This record gives sequence, C-alpha cells and structure tokens, in this order.
Amino acid sequence: MLIKEPLNVQMEETYQQMARETLEELDWCLDQLETIQTHRSVSEMASNKFKRMLNRELSHLSEMSRSGNQVSEYISTTFLDKQNEVEIPSPTLREREKPMCHISGVKKLTHSSSLSNSTLPRFGVKTEHEDALARELNDLNKWGLNIFRVAEFSNNRPLSCIMFAIFQERDLLKTFRIPVDTFVTYVMTLEDHYHANVAYHNSLHAADVTQSTHVLLSTPALDAVFTDLEILAALFAAAIHDVDHPGVSNQFLINTNSELALMYNDESVLENHHLAVGFKLLHEDNCDIFQNLSKRQRQSLRKLVIDMVLATDMSKHMSLLADLKTMVETKKVTSSGVLLLDHYTDRIQVLRNMVHCADLSNPTKPLAVYRQWTERIMEEFFRQGDKERERGMEISPMCDKHTASVEKSQVGFIDYIVHPLWETWGDLVHPDAQDILDTLEDNRDWYQSTIPQSPSPPPVGQDKELNACMDKFQFELTLEESSEREQGEEGDKSTPNHVAQDCSQGEEDDEEGKKEEEEDIMAEEENEDIIEEEDEVAMEEEEQEEEQEEELKSHLEVRPDKERLSDTSPVEEEEDSSSQADDT
Ligand SMILES: [Zn+2]
Repeated sequence: MLIKEPLNVQMEETYQQMARETLEELDWCLDQLETIQTHRSVSEMASNKFKRMLNRELSHLSEMSRSGNQVSEYISTTFLDKQNEVEIPSPTLREREKPMCHISGVKKLTHSSSLSNSTLPRFGVKTEHEDALARELNDLNKWGLNIFRVAEFSNNRPLSCIMFAIFQERDLLKTFRIPVDTFVTYVMTLEDHYHANVAYHNSLHAADVTQSTHVLLSTPALDAVFTDLEILAALFAAAIHDVDHPGVSNQFLINTNSELALMYNDESVLENHHLAVGFKLLHEDNCDIFQNLSKRQRQSLRKLVIDMVLATDMSKHMSLLADLKTMVETKKVTSSGVLLLDHYTDRIQVLRNMVHCADLSNPTKPLAVYRQWTERIMEEFFRQGDKERERGMEISPMCDKHTASVEKSQVGFIDYIVHPLWETWGDLVHPDAQDILDTLEDNRDWYQSTIPQSPSPPPVGQDKELNACMDKFQFELTLEESSEREQGEEGDKSTPNHVAQDCSQGEEDDEEGKKEEEEDIMAEEENEDIIEEEDEVAMEEEEQEEEQEEELKSHLEVRPDKERLSDTSPVEEEEDSSSQADDT
C-alpha cells in the first residue's frame, strides 16, 4: 500500500498535464476558427443588425394604420428577404408548355443584315431626330440626363442608343476590339428582349440604370480605381440586368409555380434568368461582343457580371448595405482623396453596390423624371395585383390599385431603403454624391407634401395619422434604443412581417366574418344595424391607432439627437443568431 500511493500521485499529475494540454489545444483551435470566420461573421452581424433595426421601425409603422401596414409589408417582403405565406394555387396547364432544356426568353431576331460599318448611323440607331438626340446626349455624363427624351428621339431604342454613346465615350470598342456592327447587333437584340409592354422593367429602365452606372463609375473618389475590364463588366451588367422581365415579382413567380421558379429553385429567380438570357444572346448571329477578349478576360468578366446582376435581387439589399457600411468605416483613401481598393473583394463589393444604387436611383433624379418612373412602377404593380385578383390569390403589398397609396409608398421607400443606401454611398465617395442626396431629400419632401391632398383613394379613413408620423420617421434609428431593446430581447422575436401579417389577417378575418354574417344570417332590415356596428368597430380601431401614434410621438420626442442608422457601428454588436434567415 505504501508503494502505491506515489504511483497514484504520479498518475494524477500525468492526467492533469494531459488535461491542460488538451485545453490549450482547444483554445488554439477556437482562435483559429475565429480568425477564419472573421469576415463572414462581421458581415452577417452587420446585416442582421440592420435587419433587426429596420424590422423594429417597420413594426411601429405597421401598427400605425392600414396604409402604414401596407407600406411596411411591401418593404419587408421586398427588401428583407422575407416571404409572404400565401396559399399557392395549382399551376395552370398553359404554364407548363415550354420545355426546360433551353433558356425560354431567347427569340430569333436578326439585325445584322441591315448593318455595316459604312451605313452605321451617328448614334447607332436609325432616327429622324438626330440633332435633338445629340442635344439630349450632351448630358451623357450627367446625373440629370433625361432618358425619356432619349427614347423619344432614338426611335424608341434608348438602350441601344445609350450603350452606343457610352461605349464610344469610353472608347471601349477600341480597347476590347469589339467590331462596331457586332456591338450594334448585340445591343439591338438585347433591347428586343426587354418587353415593351411591361410598364417599368423595360429597356428604358435598363438604359437608365446603364447611364446611371456610367456616371457613378466616373465619380472622382473612384478615379482610376477600376480596370477597363471591370468598367466593361459593370456597364454590361447594368444593360442586361432586367432583360426579359415579365413585369411580375419573384414572389409572384414562386407563388404561381412558374417555369422560371422551377428552373431556379425559387432562388433569385428573375436575376438568374436575366443573366442567362443576357449571356445566351452573345451566341446569336454576329452578337459576340466579347469575341476578342482572352479566355481569362472572358472568365473574369463573366464572374463580375454574375455577381453584380445577382446583387440586384432586392431581397439582398440589407446584406449589401451592411457590407457597404462596414467598408465605409474602414475606408482608406490616397493623399488625393481617391479610395484605396487593393483587393478584388473590395472592388467587386463597390461595383455591386454601385449597380444596386443605380437600380434604386429613381428618387434621386430630377422630380419630373422621378415622377414618370413612379407612375410606371405603380402601373406594373397594379397589373400584377390584377393578375393576383383574377387568380384568387392574395394581392401583394402595394399591388392593389384600390387601396395602395402611391405617395406614401414613395416616402416610405425613400426613408427606409433609398436614403439609407444613398447616404452610405455618399459617405463612401464623399463629397461626390452631395447633389444626389440633396435632390433625394427634396423629392422626398415633395412626395410627403402631396400626401394630404392626394387623390389616391383612402378606403378606410385612418390614413391621416400616418402622414404626421412618416414626417418624423426619416429613418432615425437609435443606437440607444437598439441596445436597450436587445438587453431584454430574448423573447422578442416578432418581426413587422409577422405583425403586419397578423394585423392584416385579423382585419380580413373580421371583415370576412362580418360579410358571412351579413349574407347568411341577417335579413335586409337588420343589415343597417350591422353597418352601424362596423362603424363603431372602425371608430374604436381609429382611436386605438391614434393612441399608438401619440405614444410613438412622445417616444420619438424624448430623444432629440437620435443617431441615424448610418452613424452606428455594426461591428460593435454581437450577433443575434436567432434574428434572420440566412440569405447567402
Ligand atoms: Zn432593375
């Protein structure tokens, strides 16, 4: 027994030694893992944080009134990667006719026969208004170019014309040895694959985004940052980014079991399709504008273009914005004020945000131009709403022509989406985007001022509270609020979408219930009583909403210097893994 004791002690020491070593190894492993995942987790942290903050603001908004609820629902389903839970009707036979083995949007069209270098018109398109067109194209390098007039004077070929002008201006045909007849054939073919009968997502929008990208590429803060190939890729991406758009949303395509949703497994359905068509058209007769690029150049161009067009999926908006904010906070500039972007990942990140900004640039344009875009997008939404109504589907937010509030939706769209994005872009290229931001703010105020005398039908009379509130809502998210809420937030997982859905669901249920009662139980005379009852319910709802509004007002007034979303540092926050679905 006496001999065994030291042995035991010895063994215990050995075990302790081993345990210490194992612990050290585990620590080392953890360190390694943390280093490896740094980039991803910072980006996700930031994105999740902004989604949470926006969610919170939207749930306030959706509680405000029915129209606030609709605007909130539109923003959260479009820009927060959330999906409406909608009952999906079975597909009709007609939708299944087309085979899946080819890209469905590509049509056979020929332009090449009529074109040769000698007969090429001055701006690549045949027109009787060449002088007027030349005058409009004097603004080619300006943010205020009027693309509607370019369309008018170019025989309705705004995309072909603007691409031709930009490629000439940048000398890209020479740099990449693109035969001019091939170029014109491709851009005309591309333009033909935009749907002229779609109100917004037609070739005019593509031309607008291309020209806007062209201007952004020339911003002084990005002088000589991008290679010619990157510039070529950005312009090409902008030109093809909505080709063959059917005028309905991804969610509509998914909900109707469309061929396209099937093809792309519900993930960025349209964006994948635009890319496929844009690249496929290069294979048409005399259309390969990249024929003289090296294999490597073609490969990197393709990679860049895919990245940028997929980033135009609005459900990726928050991740893009979060990455851009992180970049702004760590940005380095040269002595002459130009951004330092050494790595490919940084440059592509700026490029994908640039095209996204161009895609969301309507509210930053001169008011007369912006208003035309608004009319067009609402027309497209309403047509989708009509289709949904015909099919007995739930009508998507902002798509119901009987209830949508155009002006309010623009104010909400600017406050929650466009302004935060452009403000961050403005920080990145400071001070280059100051005029753009000024125009954006003026336009926002204009739409805000049109709300009270708006002729848009407010079918339920509770819209007035929202006007007052939206005024205060210049997306003033507070850091204090977020930290204060997050401390005790474990159980608070509600999202405005849920809130919004719950509210609208409740309203609809109520209304349906009442209708049934009306139809089934009541005699005609008794109907009057029901209507009175309904009025009472509506009044009660109204009172409740007013109370909520008052509460929110006082809530906002307590904190005079609110920090804007853009002033917050996403990196400081800890990740809340429960908050959002992964959208990579
Ligand atoms: Zn677009």
